[in-house]
Amino acid sequence: MPDHAFPLRPTPTVPVDGDKPFPVRRILCVGRNYAAHRAEMGGDDRDPPFFFAKPADAIVPPGQNVAYPSATANLHHEIELVVAIGPDGIFGYAVGVDLTRRDLQSAAKDKGQPWDAAKGFDQSAPISAISKLDSLGDAAISLSVNGEVRQKARIGDMLWSVPEIVEQAGLLWSLQPGDLIFTGTPEGVGPLQKGDLVEGSVEGIGSLSFEIV
Ligand code: MN
Repeated sequence: MPDHAFPLRPTPTVPVDGDKPFPVRRILCVGRNYAAHRAEMGGDDRDPPFFFAKPADAIVPPGQNVAYPSATANLHHEIELVVAIGPDGIFGYAVGVDLTRRDLQSAAKDKGQPWDAAKGFDQSAPISAISKLDSLGDAAISLSVNGEVRQKARIGDMLWSVPEIVEQAGLLWSLQPGDLIFTGTPEGVGPLQKGDLVEGSVEGIGSLSFEIV
């Protein structure tokens, strides 16, 4: 007799440079953490950054493509630095894309409804391998679509720094090994179409690429 009503799903994992895979527990995301993106989304400097979440199995491991999601006509890219939490605090960093159904997000904002369908859908969190760096300088972060640069900024442009984000998240949740925190996107977000090749990088951390299929 199995121990469960149906077989347990395997825990999603992310490869780690020079170590065993990182088992993902959950994904937290910061909204509006770069001033220029906050402005392009219609916010202003009085808005505090805030968190939302994606399910752990929204992860798309390196080397896999992303199916254009259902129920949207405006899929957007958001390049982000990702912080990986381990047993002793920050375990490492990765490059992620916070894929967004922008049309559903706009409708949810208008109605004061939650963002789950806009942000937490299947395959909404492509990610690179995790790099176990001790510290992160003012690294360049960028994203291109079909070779054309769409987003380009520096980690130092973030309104809340990585230590501040981890501290603030820790006030709201008990952070545990396996948690990933997407730290927000700079300006230049825009639509993706089937067939687009998306390439993102954070200087010193790594890069990712995937196709929308
Ligand atoms: Mn985002």
